[in-house]
Order: sequence, then structure tokens, then C-alpha cells
Amino acid sequence: MSRTMNAAVVRGRGGPEVISIDRVPMPEPRAGEALVRVRACALNRMDVWARTGPPQPIFPWKEPVYPLITGTGIAGELETVPAGMGWFRPGDRVVVFSPLSCGRCEYCLRGEQTMCPEYHIFGEHTQGGFAEYVAVPSANLEPIPAAVDFAVAAATTSYPTAWRCVVTQGEVRPGDDVLVLAAGGGVGVAAIDIALHAGARVFACASTEDKRRRAVAMGAAAASNHTAPFSGWILEQTEGRGVDIVVDSLGATWPESIRSLARAGRLVVCGATLDNKPVFDIRELYQRHRSIRGAPMGNRNEFRRVLKLIAEGRLHPTVDSVFPLDRIRDAHRRAESRDSFGKIVVTV
Ligand SMILES: [Zn+2]
Repeated sequence: MSRTMNAAVVRGRGGPEVISIDRVPMPEPRAGEALVRVRACALNRMDVWARTGPPQPIFPWKEPVYPLITGTGIAGELETVPAGMGWFRPGDRVVVFSPLSCGRCEYCLRGEQTMCPEYHIFGEHTQGGFAEYVAVPSANLEPIPAAVDFAVAAATTSYPTAWRCVVTQGEVRPGDDVLVLAAGGGVGVAAIDIALHAGARVFACASTEDKRRRAVAMGAAAASNHTAPFSGWILEQTEGRGVDIVVDSLGATWPESIRSLARAGRLVVCGATLDNKPVFDIRELYQRHRSIRGAPMGNRNEFRRVLKLIAEGRLHPTVDSVFPLDRIRDAHRRAESRDSFGKIVVTV
């Protein structure tokens, strides 16, 4: 008789009511996989898209096959460890690096797992973490530093993308001015945290007064609304100069984001949640030496770096709210309300 576990099963397209907590077979780890007892899993936009469909198909999106169990920001304890993984022991606290890649192509060899042509995401294209157990390739496990609890460890999963945006592609330097749009989202809040840590002055745009107030409480110099034109406001804030970096996950905001940049400024793009076909004037881009850079997700080294800085208390992931697994529908409702600030975490 195979053992069973509780899991949040998405039964098809629809609202949060298509998710039910069911008894399902426990995952059977294959060669090289560890069995992880899930303690916390962060909710991601892709978990909502798994039942609603994405606004537009995006790489590496795959049409879901129902029923399915999603959840990519996983933190938990090792239940069983595969042979040859002697440096991990049962009971060790681990967090999952979710990008899966071939390990052999030129990009993987460069350490850029998310550039791999075979790139896909653990917990979206495999059974995910909204369950009591999950079988994870042991190569994708990172130890959770002692000072970090499970909910915070799960919330670190938007930090590698934010690091990619602000540090790797944004090339932030102390004294830079950085504008973060969608400042209440998981990546937005992480980008504010990282930019402040890097010594930048940060401006934030968010859709509600509450989120703007919270961005300022984190240390943003000022905040405004990205649903109205904001380039005039940012030019006023910077004595007409503009900012060095705009972190934009919205897409529809590109014309205003480009106008908000100083000369040689970088528009860093990690999403297109409002529109993927913005219309802008190319001359506003190149004549002022501005550039647009893609930053969809961080690599393994970036993940390690943010974990280290979080363990040292130098970065501080924001957990918006915590729901037990049997209230995962409420977690989805919270995500869709767009009222959240930081990560929504489900504990198991
Ligand atoms: Zn590869």
C-alpha cells in the first residue's frame, strides 16, 4: 500500500474554489532526488496562472495538465537523502533553488541556469510545494542559514530576480538613484531592500496608498502611483536628472519608465504583467544612451549571495501574510486582491 499525504490540488481552470486539499500518493524520489518535508512555500504569480492562465503565454510557460500541485518557493526539512549526498543529513533545513536546467550547455557551464534552452521551473513544471512532501533533485537544495525561519526562507525566492535586476543588470553603484515599480510585489519589495543595501537612493511606485506608505517605511525616499504618468514626478525628485535604474515588471509603463531615466540609465525588465506590447519612441532611448535589459530570474550564485546576506541580517525579506495549507484558497484570494506587500507564504 503506498503512503499518502495532504496536498493542495488544482483541479482545473477557475477561481480559488478549483483548489482542494486532497489525500494523494506521496512522491517517490528518483535517483538523485531527496524527499523534503515541506514547512513553508511562497505563493508566486505562476501559482495563480496555473488556474487562471497567464495574461499572455511567456517562456517558460507550459499549458498546465490537471490535476496539478504547484508551489515553487519551497522551504522544509530533509526526510530522506539520496546516496552520494553525504553533506546533507535527514532533518537538515533546506530551501529549493527552483530553476531546472540541462547542466551541459554553454549557459549552464557559465553558471547561468536560467539561460538554458531546457530551462524550466521546479514546482511549476513538476509537483510543487503546496503539499506535505516533495521530491527535489538534490543538486537544487541549499541549506537554510540558522538565523532564518522557514517562512522567511520561502520568501527569499523573489530575491534572486530582484538581485538580477538591481545588481547584475542594473549595475547599481552607491549613490545611484533607483526607481522600483510595482513596489508591493515580491520582486518589488526585494528590489527596494537590495537597492538600499547597495547604497542607492530609492523611489517607489505602487498602486495603493498603503503600499506607498510601506515602501517609504522600508526606506524609500518618496513614493508615487504608477497607474498615472510618473516621469514628471521622478524628474522633480531628482532635480531634472532622472534615475540610473528603473525596475519594471509591468510593461505598460515602459514609455514613462524610459522618460524617467537619466542619460545612460538602464530600464531593467522582469515582467510584463500589465501589457507586453508598449509603444515607445526609440529616439528617447538611444539618443540619451539609455538601454533596456532583461532580468527574468537569478542564477544559483545570486541565490546563494542573497541567502548569505539574509543570514547576516543585511537583507530583510518581507512576509506579507502566512496561511496554513488548508486555507490556501484565501492565500490565492489575497494574491489576486493586489493588496499584498511582500510575499504571501503558505505553511504546511
Ligand atoms: Zn543548459
